[in-house]
Amino acid sequence: MALFGRKKKAAPAPEVVEEVPTLPEPPAANDAGLREWQAHRQWVLDQIEPLPPFGMQVLDALGLSLCEDIEADIALPGFDNAAMDGYAVQAADTWNASENAPASLAVVGEIAAGSVADRALAPGTAMKIMTGAPVPEGADAVVQYELTDRGVEDVQIFAQIEQGKNIRLRGSDIEDGEHLMSAGTRIDSRTVGLLAGVGIDKVLVRPRPRVVVIATGTELVEPGLPLGDKGELYDSNSYMLAAAAKAAGAQVFRVGAVGDDEEEMAQIISDQLVRADLIVTSGGISQGDWDVVKAVAPSLGLVDFAQLAMQPGKPQGFGLIGEDQVPMLMLPGNPVSSFVSFEVFVRPVLRKLMGVEPLFREPVRAVTNTIIRSAPGKAQFLRGEVRTDPGGRHTVDLVGGPGSHLLGSLQKSNALVVLEPGTEVVPAGQTVTTWMLTDD
Ligand code: AMP
Ligand code: MG
Repeated sequence: MALFGRKKKAAPAPEVVEEVPTLPEPPAANDAGLREWQAHRQWVLDQIEPLPPFGMQVLDALGLSLCEDIEADIALPGFDNAAMDGYAVQAADTWNASENAPASLAVVGEIAAGSVADRALAPGTAMKIMTGAPVPEGADAVVQYELTDRGVEDVQIFAQIEQGKNIRLRGSDIEDGEHLMSAGTRIDSRTVGLLAGVGIDKVLVRPRPRVVVIATGTELVEPGLPLGDKGELYDSNSYMLAAAAKAAGAQVFRVGAVGDDEEEMAQIISDQLVRADLIVTSGGISQGDWDVVKAVAPSLGLVDFAQLAMQPGKPQGFGLIGEDQVPMLMLPGNPVSSFVSFEVFVRPVLRKLMGVEPLFREPVRAVTNTIIRSAPGKAQFLRGEVRTDPGGRHTVDLVGGPGSHLLGSLQKSNALVVLEPGTEVVPAGQTVTTWMLTDD
């Protein structure tokens, strides 16, 4: 039996397993079926990539994070110049001058800011000089007007002037080649000033994230239009979230309220993808019959809906939507829930996109003026009003009740009081963690 020449069996074709993309495994829920908010926030942040650097005019870069190290390629001041209006002199010529025995010098020229002397200063002479004008060669001090008779042909100087007086030396502020700022610096008005001062007009920064804000709810009416009599209310969330995103540095596209219609909702989200680095929706993610975001999001991308151990803000959705996997944060619709969700999840995401540190609010410890009760098993984000006494001690009063529809008390608050799930009662006089709600 010939063993050779036997036909080899064709290797079985490898089974083509189409890889179905999925989100990374989200954090597990606890025994009560709830996910811890910090774990959820971290998991969401892990899916977010900072935006790539972009060249921008320095003024447009205000609030953005620098993506390059900056060195000065000029000195500041660029030349020795007068710190006062007065006369450029040689200090030695004022030796022993006084009110009674002034030094008298011939005035041989005048130097305004933006012009230079046509010659060097000779001993025994003076040149009128204005603040910021270049000190002429030969001069080693500037006598301010106040110590002179302001003479035109000759000037009387009533005091002895030391060498170097009223001269701002070249490079005394910034040296040529000096390292000015590192990548990661957040550009504030003073940074803009220094960049412009050393002649830099454009910088590489992480751009403003383009954030699309969509509210959902057939009951919602655009502010400015009349309310009907079918249980309508004004859409406050899309405005509030848009404002909060703007305050955090985003470029915002506010899509008004969309009705609870799945087809329309899917179409709108898809249409918005082209201009979004992040989509934020409000409403339609709980257990209701018309929870349109929850219904359509799975058909648009990879999504995760969870119940969190927090109040307000228990239902949360996250997705990577469309071909480009645009992140989408789906927030609950009650206005306070929406706002708290923005603070806890959206703001850190925006800061990560922008490359701005720290991602989270710096916790501020404050002494509560009243007893605080908290539902067990859930973190609480209560609205508070923090006051700081002249000694720097912070105290806090709760504002409004726990209802997540309380827009009025939300507006009055300036902080969130953050209680962890283990806390049930905080007696008055004890210290609690707060997040100050500053717009930055
Ligand atoms: P939802 O999460 O869609 O079930 O909404 C919960 C509650 O919040 C409902 O009473 C809504 O009317 C209200 N709500 C939802 N979206 C908004 C909005 N954009 N502005 C004001 N209230 C809203
Ligand atoms: Mg709704």
